[in-house]
Amino acid sequence: MPLIPTKIKIAAGNDTMTVEWSDGHTSVYPYVYLRERCPCAMCTDKHTGPPKCGTALPMFGTKRLKPQKAELVGRYAVQLFWNDGHSSGIYAFEYLRELCPCDACAAPARIEPAG
Ligand SMILES: [Zn+2]
Ligand SMILES: [Zn+2]
Repeated sequence: MPLIPTKIKIAAGNDTMTVEWSDGHTSVYPYVYLRERCPCAMCTDKHTGPPKCGTALPMFGTKRLKPQKAELVGRYAVQLFWNDGHSSGIYAFEYLRELCPCDACAAPARIEPAG
């Protein structure tokens, strides 16, 4: 069974998007975290290296940058529509799950012993 999101919630108040997965896992992504990892050509071209963590959430006018909606693309990806009009970021489920910032997923699964 491929891993798919069963529920995607864009929260109103706390600047995070919640994804519930078909294996029962729940991922919570801060908006800025997702935007920094936008996989579209426009965003990845701009950056020569990996995105920097801890960047302040960009402002858009007087509003904070956030996704207005998330739509499924076929059976393989989620497309985010940001309130600054950016919508070319298509997050494949696999990629999205890899991005999960929770402790369980961030645990070093393949750490090499030093020295
Ligand atoms: Zn992008
Ligand atoms: Zn996780």
